[in-house]
Amino acid sequence: MEIAEIIKSLSILQVLEHYHLKPNRNKMVCCPFHDDKNPSRQVYAETNTVFCFSGNCKMNGKKIDAIQFIQEVPGRISRTV
Ligand SMILES: [Zn+2]
Repeated sequence: MEIAEIIKSLSILQVLEHYHLKPNRNKMVCCPFHDDKNPSRQVYAETNTVFCFSGNCKMNGKKIDAIQFIQEVPGRISRTV
């Protein structure tokens, strides 16, 4: 299987759910890459990507896909699953 196919078959919403991140009605989740109290990470289900709008975020300005999300997400979150 090509990497592109794997990424396509991996739903960002499923990945977020795995980390207990539920998009709100504006399709925003609390960002796991910075100390986020109000959801500032936008979920783009159509393209399977997420984007953080916070200036405090180390991942700010980067649109990432499901694979990059899993790679970058802090260990403390995945261990709680
Ligand atoms: Zn962030």
